Amino acid sequence: MKAVIYEKKGSLILGDRPVPQLCEPTDAIVKVTLASICTSDLHIKHGAVLRAKPGVVVGHEMVGVVQEVGEQVKNFQPGDRVTVNVETFCGKCFFCERGYVNNCTDENGGWALGCRIDGGQAEYVRVPLADQGLNKIPKGLSDRQVLFVGDILATGYWAAKIGEIKREDTVVVLGAGPTGMCALMCARLYEPKTIVAVDLDERRLALVREEGWADVTVQPQKEDLFQVVAELTQGRGADVVLEVAGGADTFQTAWKVARPNGIVGIVAIYDEDQTLPLPKMYGKNLTLKMGGVDASDCDEILSLIAQGKLDTTKLITHEVTLDNVMEGYRIFEQKEDGVIKVAVRPS
Ligand SMILES: [Zn+2]
Ligand SMILES: [Zn+2]
Repeated sequence: MKAVIYEKKGSLILGDRPVPQLCEPTDAIVKVTLASICTSDLHIKHGAVLRAKPGVVVGHEMVGVVQEVGEQVKNFQPGDRVTVNVETFCGKCFFCERGYVNNCTDENGGWALGCRIDGGQAEYVRVPLADQGLNKIPKGLSDRQVLFVGDILATGYWAAKIGEIKREDTVVVLGAGPTGMCALMCARLYEPKTIVAVDLDERRLALVREEGWADVTVQPQKEDLFQVVAELTQGRGADVVLEVAGGADTFQTAWKVARPNGIVGIVAIYDEDQTLPLPKMYGKNLTLKMGGVDASDCDEILSLIAQGKLDTTKLITHEVTLDNVMEGYRIFEQKEDGVIKVAVRPS
Protein backbone atom coordinates (compact mmCIF):
# COMPACT_ATOMS: atom_id res chain seq x y z
CA MET A 1 0.00 0.00 0.00
CA LYS A 2 1.00 3.63 -0.34
CA ALA A 3 1.95 5.55 2.79
CA VAL A 4 3.63 8.81 3.81
CA ILE A 5 6.87 7.94 5.58
CA TYR A 6 9.08 10.07 7.84
CA GLU A 7 12.40 9.08 6.30
CA LYS A 8 14.73 11.29 8.33
CA LYS A 9 14.94 14.85 9.60
CA GLY A 10 13.80 17.12 6.79
CA SER A 11 12.22 14.39 4.67
CA LEU A 12 8.72 13.00 4.32
CA ILE A 13 8.18 10.75 1.29
CA LEU A 14 5.34 8.84 -0.32
CA GLY A 15 6.49 5.21 -0.24
CA ASP A 16 5.26 1.63 -0.38
CA ARG A 17 4.55 -0.44 2.70
CA PRO A 18 2.95 -3.83 3.34
CA VAL A 19 -0.66 -3.68 4.55
CA PRO A 20 -0.50 -3.80 8.38
CA GLN A 21 -1.56 -7.01 10.17
CA LEU A 22 -3.01 -7.60 13.62
CA CYS A 23 -0.15 -7.89 16.14
CA GLU A 24 -2.00 -7.94 19.48
CA PRO A 25 -5.44 -9.35 20.34
CA THR A 26 -6.51 -5.79 21.24
CA ASP A 27 -5.64 -4.38 17.78
CA ALA A 28 -7.91 -3.41 14.92
CA ILE A 29 -7.04 -2.87 11.27
CA VAL A 30 -8.83 0.14 9.79
CA LYS A 31 -9.16 0.92 6.09
CA VAL A 32 -8.57 4.67 5.96
CA THR A 33 -11.26 6.54 4.01
CA LEU A 34 -10.12 10.09 4.84
CA ALA A 35 -7.05 11.45 6.61
CA SER A 36 -5.62 14.92 7.11
CA ILE A 37 -2.31 16.70 7.31
CA CYS A 38 -1.63 18.26 10.71
CA THR A 39 0.87 20.89 11.78
CA SER A 40 2.40 18.21 14.00
CA ASP A 41 3.32 16.25 10.85
CA LEU A 42 5.43 19.26 9.86
CA HIS A 43 6.97 19.32 13.35
CA ILE A 44 7.95 15.66 12.76
CA LYS A 45 9.37 16.48 9.34
CA HIS A 46 11.53 19.20 10.86
CA GLY A 47 12.85 16.92 13.58
CA ALA A 48 11.06 18.88 16.33
CA VAL A 49 9.23 15.80 17.67
CA LEU A 50 12.03 13.97 19.43
CA ARG A 51 9.95 10.84 20.01
CA ALA A 52 9.14 10.43 16.29
CA LYS A 53 10.86 7.38 14.82
CA PRO A 54 12.51 7.60 11.41
CA GLY A 55 10.79 5.13 9.09
CA VAL A 56 7.38 5.57 10.74
CA VAL A 57 4.23 6.10 8.65
CA VAL A 58 2.89 9.52 9.69
CA GLY A 59 -0.73 10.64 10.04
CA HIS A 60 -2.67 10.79 13.29
CA GLU A 61 -6.00 12.32 12.24
CA MET A 62 -8.17 9.96 10.19
CA VAL A 63 -11.43 8.12 9.80
CA GLY A 64 -12.18 4.80 8.17
CA VAL A 65 -13.89 1.44 8.22
CA VAL A 66 -12.88 -1.43 10.53
CA GLN A 67 -11.53 -4.33 8.45
CA GLU A 68 -10.43 -6.78 11.09
CA VAL A 69 -10.31 -6.94 14.89
CA GLY A 70 -8.25 -8.94 17.38
CA GLU A 71 -10.06 -11.47 19.55
CA GLN A 72 -10.07 -9.24 22.65
CA VAL A 73 -11.68 -6.26 20.90
CA LYS A 74 -15.22 -6.07 22.31
CA ASN A 75 -16.77 -2.84 21.00
CA PHE A 76 -16.02 -2.96 17.28
CA GLN A 77 -16.46 -5.29 14.37
CA PRO A 78 -15.59 -5.30 10.68
CA GLY A 79 -17.71 -2.80 8.78
CA ASP A 80 -17.99 -0.24 11.59
CA ARG A 81 -17.27 3.33 10.49
CA VAL A 82 -14.91 4.90 13.01
CA THR A 83 -12.86 7.92 13.96
CA VAL A 84 -9.34 7.14 15.18
CA ASN A 85 -8.05 8.82 18.34
CA VAL A 86 -4.67 10.55 18.16
CA GLU A 87 -3.94 9.00 21.54
CA THR A 88 -3.42 5.39 22.40
CA PHE A 89 -4.57 4.52 25.89
CA CYS A 90 -5.40 1.49 27.98
CA GLY A 91 -8.47 2.80 29.84
CA LYS A 92 -7.35 1.03 33.04
CA CYS A 93 -4.27 2.70 34.50
CA PHE A 94 -4.24 5.41 37.21
CA PHE A 95 -4.31 8.25 34.66
CA CYS A 96 -6.82 6.68 32.25
CA GLU A 97 -9.28 6.07 35.08
CA ARG A 98 -9.21 9.80 35.80
CA GLY A 99 -9.59 10.79 32.14
CA TYR A 100 -5.94 11.86 31.77
CA VAL A 101 -5.38 9.58 28.81
CA ASN A 102 -2.49 11.66 27.47
CA ASN A 103 -0.46 10.25 30.36
CA CYS A 104 -1.53 6.63 29.98
CA THR A 105 1.28 4.43 31.30
CA ASP A 106 0.92 1.78 28.57
CA GLU A 107 4.14 1.49 26.54
CA ASN A 108 2.27 2.95 23.56
CA GLY A 109 0.30 5.39 25.74
CA GLY A 110 -0.17 8.98 24.57
CA TRP A 111 0.58 10.16 21.05
CA ALA A 112 2.06 7.08 19.37
CA LEU A 113 0.15 6.73 16.09
CA GLY A 114 1.97 8.40 13.24
CA CYS A 115 4.84 9.23 15.60
CA ARG A 116 6.29 6.12 17.25
CA ILE A 117 4.08 3.53 15.51
CA ASP A 118 2.73 3.58 11.97
CA GLY A 119 -0.12 6.05 11.44
CA GLY A 120 -2.87 6.79 8.99
CA GLN A 121 -1.65 8.73 5.96
CA ALA A 122 -1.89 5.36 4.26
CA GLU A 123 -4.49 2.99 2.88
CA TYR A 124 -4.68 1.00 6.13
CA VAL A 125 -3.66 1.56 9.73
CA ARG A 126 -3.24 -0.76 12.70
CA VAL A 127 -4.88 0.78 15.79
CA PRO A 128 -3.61 -0.64 19.10
CA LEU A 129 -5.97 -0.87 22.09
CA ALA A 130 -8.80 -0.42 19.61
CA ASP A 131 -11.63 -0.43 22.17
CA GLN A 132 -10.26 2.87 23.48
CA GLY A 133 -8.62 4.17 20.28
CA LEU A 134 -11.72 4.06 18.06
CA ASN A 135 -15.11 5.77 18.22
CA LYS A 136 -18.16 4.85 16.16
CA ILE A 137 -19.38 7.47 13.71
CA PRO A 138 -23.11 8.15 14.24
CA LYS A 139 -25.31 7.24 11.27
CA GLY A 140 -25.75 9.95 8.68
CA LEU A 141 -22.47 11.79 9.33
CA SER A 142 -19.93 12.04 6.51
CA ASP A 143 -16.18 11.49 6.78
CA ARG A 144 -15.64 15.20 6.28
CA GLN A 145 -17.92 16.06 9.21
CA VAL A 146 -15.95 13.90 11.64
CA LEU A 147 -12.40 14.06 10.25
CA PHE A 148 -11.01 16.17 13.10
CA VAL A 149 -12.70 14.42 16.03
CA GLY A 150 -9.63 12.43 17.07
CA ASP A 151 -7.10 15.28 17.08
CA ILE A 152 -7.65 19.01 16.57
CA LEU A 153 -11.32 19.02 17.53
CA ALA A 154 -10.55 16.91 20.60
CA THR A 155 -7.87 19.48 21.41
CA GLY A 156 -10.23 22.43 20.98
CA TYR A 157 -12.83 20.68 23.12
CA TRP A 158 -10.29 19.94 25.83
CA ALA A 159 -8.98 23.53 25.72
CA ALA A 160 -12.46 24.96 26.29
CA LYS A 161 -13.10 22.41 29.04
CA ILE A 162 -9.96 23.24 31.03
CA GLY A 163 -10.83 26.93 30.60
CA GLU A 164 -13.88 26.36 32.88
CA ILE A 165 -15.81 28.90 30.81
CA LYS A 166 -18.88 30.50 32.41
CA ARG A 167 -21.79 32.45 30.90
CA GLU A 168 -20.60 35.87 32.08
CA ASP A 169 -17.06 35.34 30.78
CA THR A 170 -15.00 37.13 28.17
CA VAL A 171 -12.84 34.47 26.52
CA VAL A 172 -9.75 35.32 24.46
CA VAL A 173 -8.39 32.69 22.07
CA LEU A 174 -4.88 33.45 20.83
CA GLY A 175 -4.36 31.88 17.40
CA ALA A 176 -7.12 31.21 14.84
CA GLY A 177 -5.40 28.43 12.94
CA PRO A 178 -7.21 25.08 12.62
CA THR A 179 -6.89 24.18 16.31
CA GLY A 180 -7.70 27.73 17.38
CA MET A 181 -10.87 27.60 15.27
CA CYS A 182 -11.85 24.36 16.98
CA ALA A 183 -11.18 25.97 20.38
CA LEU A 184 -13.39 28.93 19.42
CA MET A 185 -16.26 26.65 18.37
CA CYS A 186 -15.98 24.61 21.55
CA ALA A 187 -15.78 27.75 23.72
CA ARG A 188 -19.13 28.75 22.14
CA LEU A 189 -20.73 25.58 23.57
CA TYR A 190 -20.45 27.21 27.01
CA GLU A 191 -22.28 30.35 25.79
CA PRO A 192 -19.88 32.92 27.25
CA LYS A 193 -20.72 36.62 27.01
CA THR A 194 -17.97 37.46 24.51
CA ILE A 195 -15.43 35.41 22.52
CA VAL A 196 -12.42 37.26 21.13
CA ALA A 197 -10.33 35.63 18.38
CA VAL A 198 -6.79 36.89 17.81
CA ASP A 199 -4.66 36.15 14.75
CA LEU A 200 -2.26 37.90 12.37
CA ASP A 201 -4.08 36.49 9.32
CA GLU A 202 -7.09 38.56 8.27
CA ARG A 203 -8.42 35.80 5.99
CA ARG A 204 -8.70 33.42 8.90
CA LEU A 205 -10.38 36.06 11.04
CA ALA A 206 -12.83 36.78 8.21
CA LEU A 207 -13.90 33.12 8.23
CA VAL A 208 -14.20 33.22 12.03
CA ARG A 209 -16.53 36.22 11.76
CA GLU A 210 -18.56 34.73 8.88
CA GLU A 211 -19.14 31.54 10.82
CA GLY A 212 -19.86 33.34 14.08
CA TRP A 213 -17.14 31.47 15.95
CA ALA A 214 -16.14 34.70 17.71
CA ASP A 215 -17.92 37.95 18.58
CA VAL A 216 -14.84 40.12 18.18
CA THR A 217 -11.72 39.54 16.09
CA VAL A 218 -8.41 41.30 16.60
CA GLN A 219 -5.37 41.54 14.35
CA PRO A 220 -2.75 42.52 16.94
CA GLN A 221 -0.49 44.21 14.39
CA LYS A 222 -3.32 46.66 13.65
CA GLU A 223 -5.25 46.92 16.90
CA ASP A 224 -4.33 46.98 20.56
CA LEU A 225 -5.67 43.71 21.97
CA PHE A 226 -5.27 44.92 25.55
CA GLN A 227 -7.38 47.98 24.86
CA VAL A 228 -10.07 45.93 23.11
CA VAL A 229 -10.26 43.51 26.03
CA ALA A 230 -10.19 46.34 28.58
CA GLU A 231 -13.20 47.95 26.88
CA LEU A 232 -15.08 44.65 26.91
CA THR A 233 -14.38 43.97 30.57
CA GLN A 234 -14.51 47.36 32.34
CA GLY A 235 -10.73 47.28 32.44
CA ARG A 236 -10.47 43.92 34.21
CA GLY A 237 -8.97 41.72 31.49
CA ALA A 238 -10.13 38.38 30.07
CA ASP A 239 -11.73 35.86 32.39
CA VAL A 240 -10.34 32.96 30.33
CA VAL A 241 -7.44 32.94 27.88
CA LEU A 242 -6.68 29.98 25.61
CA GLU A 243 -3.20 30.17 24.05
CA VAL A 244 -3.26 28.08 20.88
CA ALA A 245 -0.69 29.99 18.82
CA GLY A 246 2.61 28.82 20.31
CA GLY A 247 4.77 31.94 19.93
CA ALA A 248 6.98 33.64 22.51
CA ASP A 249 4.87 36.80 22.13
CA THR A 250 1.54 34.98 22.47
CA PHE A 251 2.83 33.15 25.55
CA GLN A 252 3.47 36.52 27.22
CA THR A 253 0.19 37.99 25.94
CA ALA A 254 -1.70 35.05 27.43
CA TRP A 255 -0.94 35.87 31.05
CA LYS A 256 -0.91 39.64 30.52
CA VAL A 257 -4.38 39.84 28.93
CA ALA A 258 -5.97 37.67 31.63
CA ARG A 259 -7.71 39.37 34.52
CA PRO A 260 -6.56 38.76 38.09
CA ASN A 261 -7.76 35.31 39.20
CA GLY A 262 -8.44 34.33 35.58
CA ILE A 263 -7.68 31.01 33.96
CA VAL A 264 -5.00 30.66 31.29
CA GLY A 265 -5.04 27.45 29.26
CA ILE A 266 -1.82 26.82 27.36
CA VAL A 267 -2.60 24.38 24.56
CA ALA A 268 0.08 25.31 22.02
CA ILE A 269 3.29 23.42 21.34
CA TYR A 270 6.40 25.61 21.59
CA ASP A 271 9.70 25.22 19.78
CA GLU A 272 11.61 26.77 22.69
CA ASP A 273 11.49 27.26 26.44
CA GLN A 274 9.32 30.15 27.62
CA THR A 275 9.81 32.23 30.74
CA LEU A 276 7.20 33.36 33.21
CA PRO A 277 8.21 36.67 34.89
CA LEU A 278 6.93 35.63 38.30
CA PRO A 279 7.84 38.86 40.16
CA LYS A 280 5.71 40.85 37.69
CA MET A 281 2.93 38.29 37.89
CA TYR A 282 2.86 38.30 41.67
CA GLY A 283 -0.56 39.23 43.01
CA LYS A 284 -2.31 38.46 39.76
CA ASN A 285 -3.25 35.06 41.21
CA LEU A 286 -3.73 33.34 37.89
CA THR A 287 -4.53 29.69 37.35
CA LEU A 288 -2.38 28.26 34.57
CA LYS A 289 -3.25 24.94 32.96
CA MET A 290 -1.22 23.38 30.21
CA GLY A 291 -0.23 20.36 28.25
CA GLY A 292 -1.27 17.85 25.65
CA VAL A 293 -4.89 16.97 24.92
CA ASP A 294 -6.69 14.33 26.96
CA ALA A 295 -8.72 13.06 24.01
CA SER A 296 -11.20 11.17 26.14
CA ASP A 297 -14.42 12.93 25.05
CA CYS A 298 -14.66 11.77 21.42
CA ASP A 299 -18.09 10.11 21.78
CA GLU A 300 -19.46 13.35 23.24
CA ILE A 301 -17.90 15.36 20.40
CA LEU A 302 -19.42 13.00 17.81
CA SER A 303 -22.78 13.43 19.46
CA LEU A 304 -22.44 17.25 19.34
CA ILE A 305 -21.66 17.02 15.61
CA ALA A 306 -24.71 14.81 15.08
CA GLN A 307 -26.83 17.42 16.93
CA GLY A 308 -25.48 20.15 14.65
CA LYS A 309 -23.72 21.94 17.53
CA LEU A 310 -20.22 21.54 16.07
CA ASP A 311 -19.33 21.78 12.39
CA THR A 312 -15.72 21.80 11.26
CA THR A 313 -16.29 21.07 7.56
CA LYS A 314 -15.39 24.67 6.63
CA LEU A 315 -11.85 23.99 7.82
CA ILE A 316 -11.27 21.55 4.94
CA THR A 317 -10.12 23.96 2.24
CA HIS A 318 -8.23 21.40 0.15
CA GLU A 319 -8.48 17.72 -0.66
CA VAL A 320 -5.82 15.57 -2.34
CA THR A 321 -5.54 11.89 -3.16
CA LEU A 322 -2.80 9.88 -1.47
CA ASP A 323 -0.96 9.86 -4.81
CA ASN A 324 -0.93 13.66 -4.65
CA VAL A 325 -0.30 13.99 -0.93
CA MET A 326 3.10 15.66 -1.32
CA GLU A 327 1.44 18.51 -3.20
CA GLY A 328 -0.97 18.76 -0.27
CA TYR A 329 2.00 19.03 2.09
CA ARG A 330 3.55 21.74 -0.06
CA ILE A 331 0.37 23.85 -0.04
CA PHE A 332 -0.09 23.30 3.72
CA GLU A 333 3.51 24.11 4.60
CA GLN A 334 3.71 27.20 2.34
CA LYS A 335 0.26 28.34 3.61
CA GLU A 336 -0.76 28.85 -0.03
CA ASP A 337 -4.18 29.52 -1.43
CA GLY A 338 -5.87 30.32 1.89
CA VAL A 339 -5.30 26.77 3.13
CA ILE A 340 -6.62 25.82 6.55
CA LYS A 341 -6.68 22.00 6.45
CA VAL A 342 -5.85 19.49 3.72
CA ALA A 343 -7.84 16.26 3.60
CA VAL A 344 -6.17 13.19 2.09
CA ARG A 345 -8.30 10.57 0.32
CA PRO A 346 -6.44 7.26 0.04
CA SER A 347 -8.48 5.93 -2.88
ZN1 LIG B 1 -2.19 16.71 15.02
ZN1 LIG C 1 -3.88 3.94 30.60
